Parts: sequence; structure tokens; C-alpha cells
Amino acid sequence: MSSPMYGGVGDTISSPADVLILTASKSRIPAHSRVLAAASPVLERLLDQTEKRIDGSGGAISISILGVPHGAVDAFLRFLYSPSRCGMLEAKGEEAAAEMAEHAVHLLVLSHVYQVGWLKRACERALASRLASEAVVDVLVLARRCDAAWLHLRCMKLIAKDFAAVERTEAWRFLQEHDPCLELDILQSLHDAHLRQKRRRRKREEQRVYTELSEAMDCLQHICTEGCATGHCPDSATCRGLRQLVNHLALCDRKKRHSCGRCKRLWQLLRLHASICVQPDHCQVPLCSQFKQKMDQSNGKDEEEDEKWRLLVKKVVSARIMSCLAKRKRQEGFQDQEQPWLKHNLLE
Ligand SMILES: [Zn+2]
Ligand SMILES: [Zn+2]
Ligand SMILES: [Zn+2]
Repeated sequence: MSSPMYGGVGDTISSPADVLILTASKSRIPAHSRVLAAASPVLERLLDQTEKRIDGSGGAISISILGVPHGAVDAFLRFLYSPSRCGMLEAKGEEAAAEMAEHAVHLLVLSHVYQVGWLKRACERALASRLASEAVVDVLVLARRCDAAWLHLRCMKLIAKDFAAVERTEAWRFLQEHDPCLELDILQSLHDAHLRQKRRRRKREEQRVYTELSEAMDCLQHICTEGCATGHCPDSATCRGLRQLVNHLALCDRKKRHSCGRCKRLWQLLRLHASICVQPDHCQVPLCSQFKQKMDQSNGKDEEEDEKWRLLVKKVVSARIMSCLAKRKRQEGFQDQEQPWLKHNLLE
């Protein structure tokens, strides 16, 4: 039997090949059972069973890898003999990269069937790096068949991003005709992803409103205790808006106040302040103690309204904590940056 032609581990194997890999072109590729068994648990089992069967006959073990072109089996074996070739896949012009580019689809199938995890991940990366809307449906089908979850996700992302182009491809039309279940599955996933994205956007928007309300509370406290004239505004734009609202209250027609949107807004902000105010007494924010008193008295008069208000207060408080933490983290970051030169003894 001739020696195997592989580099890497193959170079260090001086013993003659003891396995023959039969490929679709009826060629036989010599290989070493030790290398194959170490690389793939499936091949290890297969070799073990075959060895037992032919034990004592002295013949070489023959394994058939059919269903993919000869070149793909050859490339597969090269990778098994030299896993370090995976590191060369990024380099253009390298032999390993060229082999991967040519046989990525079949290498993914082989690495899935023979459970060679590292090669499977390399194939997924290679296929994902050249994904395009024309072929994405075919790659998606392949990823599903090979349980390649990461590649599947990448395909779904591209389909979601470029659905108009994907819909026009031959592969999509073929899928509609021959696999309506898969088509429905993809459409359902796209719909779910769209809903998730909408929910995330809504949540971000809500969070922004709560953060702004928390900042407004800081400004309100600052206006009522130290006065805006000091110039140390937590947020000058918010301060300006609040001052305008307070000025409006003084000018607004008393009879129309109950139906005035701006007055109502100030009223709600004052109530919100009272709900989060931790000052036991003598708080300088207008109506704070009156609102607190009212809250103590109104035990469950309007449960639905109370619940909504409680939830709002909770969200504003947690937004406040989050922004305090973020501020502290930023300050600590500054301190950390300062540390090297602050620690340095200038006389040394
Ligand atoms: Zn101010
Ligand atoms: Zn008004
Ligand atoms: Zn207060």
C-alpha cells in the first residue's frame, strides 16, 4: 500500500497506511486509522467495527465515503490530517483557503456526518462569509440539514434584511413549490423576529421616557431648593422647560386649569416628585407634603389608577438608579484613567 500524500500529521507518520477510503470516483485514498479515529468519533466506531469483522484476515480496512465528489473527500482528509490548516483559511491564496472555498458545502456535510466539530464551525464561517441573497435559501436548507445553528441564524438574518431580493430568487420559488412547510416556517420566524425587534424598540423608547422623567425630577428638586440662578443645572434644557411650565401655571386662567394640558403635566410632575421624595418633612418642592398626605389617605379608592401610578413610580425609580450607577461607573472610569500618573512618585 502506498504512503498517504498528506502533510501535517502525515509527515510524522512513518508507518504505512492501513485504511483505504473509497470515493465516488471509485478511487482509493490511503489513510491511517490512528489519525481518522482521533479526528472523528464516527470514523473511530466505524474502524473499530470493521477491524473486528476482518480481524485475523490481515487485509486493509476499506471505508466508503460516497455521495460527495472525490475532491471534497480528499480535502476533508487533508483537514483531518492537519487541523492547523484551519488557521490559514483567512489567508487569500493559501491552499487550505482555496480548498475550503471550493468544497465548503460538502465539507460541512462531511464534518457534520463524521462529527468533526472544529471543521464544521470553520465551514459555517466560510459559508457565512460569502452569503448572498441569490444562494441564501440553499445555504439555509443545508444549515438545517446539518444542524448548523450558527449558519442558520446568519442566513435568517440575511433573509430578513434582504427579503425582497430573496423572494425573487429561483431557490425561493422552488422552495414555495416543493417545501411549503419550510416556507411557512421561515415566514413565521421572520414575523417573530420583526415582533421582537418592535418590542425591543418600544422598550428602549419607554426607557428613554423614564430616564427623562427621572432627570426632570432632579431638575425640579434643584429649581425648588437651590434655584436655577446658581447655574449648576443637572440638565439646562430640562430646567428651562420646567421653569416655563411653572411660569405658565402662574399665568394660566384659574378656571381653565383643570382642562389645561400644561398645568396637568406640572401637576403630575409634582405628584411624581412626592411619590419618590424621601425627605421626611420641610421639602421645598411645592405640594410635596399635601400629595404625600393624600397618598396615605387614598387607600384603594381607584385601584386601576393607583396600580398604573405605582408602576410608573417604580420605573422612574429604577431608571434613576440605573443612571446613578452609570454616572458612578463613568466617574470610576475617569479615576482609573488618572491612577497611573497619580500613583507615580514624581521624585523617583
Ligand atoms: Zn437649573
Ligand atoms: Zn395651564
Ligand atoms: Zn419632596
